[in-house]
Amino acid sequence: MTVRFNSHLTSIPGYTPGVPKGHTAEDVAGSDLAQLASNESPFPPLPEVVEAITKAASAMNRYPDPQATRLRQRLADRHEIEPGQISVANGSCDFLLAAAEALLEPGAEIVYAWPSFSMYPNMAAMTGAREIRVPLREDQTHDLEAMLAEITAATQIVIVCNPNNPTGTYIPFEEIASFVARVPEHVTIILDEAYIEFQVHDDPALSIDLLKRHPNLVLLRTFSKTHSLAGLRVGYAMASPAFKAAFDAVRQPFSVNALAQAAAVEALEHGDLIQRQIESQIAERVRVEAGVAELGLTTTDSQANFSWISLGKKGEEIEDAVVGVLASAGIVVRQGRLLGGPGWLRVSYGTPEENDRFLAALADAMKLHG
Ligand SMILES: *Cc1c(COP(=O)(O)O)cnc(C)c1O
Repeated sequence: MTVRFNSHLTSIPGYTPGVPKGHTAEDVAGSDLAQLASNESPFPPLPEVVEAITKAASAMNRYPDPQATRLRQRLADRHEIEPGQISVANGSCDFLLAAAEALLEPGAEIVYAWPSFSMYPNMAAMTGAREIRVPLREDQTHDLEAMLAEITAATQIVIVCNPNNPTGTYIPFEEIASFVARVPEHVTIILDEAYIEFQVHDDPALSIDLLKRHPNLVLLRTFSKTHSLAGLRVGYAMASPAFKAAFDAVRQPFSVNALAQAAAVEALEHGDLIQRQIESQIAERVRVEAGVAELGLTTTDSQANFSWISLGKKGEEIEDAVVGVLASAGIVVRQGRLLGGPGWLRVSYGTPEENDRFLAALADAMKLHG
């Protein structure tokens, strides 16, 4: 007799890490590898945040606050909503899994765009629900009309990733608002806003205002991309209190560790500095996309901290070779083929020096293979 895992397990897609095999995050930090594959912040956490983590470390014999009271209060103050509307989790990915657990089962349906975030396929796979992937439009943006058309009485979740990972594309707030208003009330709308701070079109606070009118809306945000805390794992959801109760019910009580809570509370004290870091990434975006255009390649109009670069007509053929040239120059990017977009590359913005190296290596790769 051998063990038998449950029948869902074989359909759950694995995660391919962005860091090359055999490297730890510390190896990357100490090397001249340009880690441009995971949309992390290139800035280390602020010294005050590191100090808060260090201070909290001496109390690690105690369990963390299961309600993350201080962090939820700070987030509520910042976004001008009630603490009861805020849940925190071990990264916002944790909410995607919790939402699957709380809302899906065999016979239920989940609708999302494709290509989009690589975690979404896990939600159907782990619960036995049916997934409906709605292809992005030609310009790599969500086809909200087509998504609406897929909603049935069985639909339990519809996810919109805005800006979208991996394509970087952004749907203006007005379109999101009218979409949300047209989704039937029995459907949970997950608006994944992991990159919302990097877009320059709308005030990121606008979507929070929608919560007043739509108790079926869940907004997901994270400290991973903007607050340099990807390694600690902390994200949050804003929604009606019923969702907090559901998320609390399906997760272990201590899902956000004490270091992550302390770090996030401190990071929120430094909004101005974080905002300047975001602006410097937006400036890098302009520079990288101009550099890519000079090579005769096209990108989407990214509103995130990464670019989605088309390798052109021969894209699918040359993708492996181009990634190989980049890798031999010590530059790690994500292959579109692994993200549902063969012939494309997803490249996170690093430091200005890393971005220059990327552009130079991409130029070399296109000379050889383009
Ligand atoms: C990075 C990312 C997340 C979340 O990350 P966590 O580190 O788990 O908070 C969520 N959604 C999208 C689209 C992302 O790209």
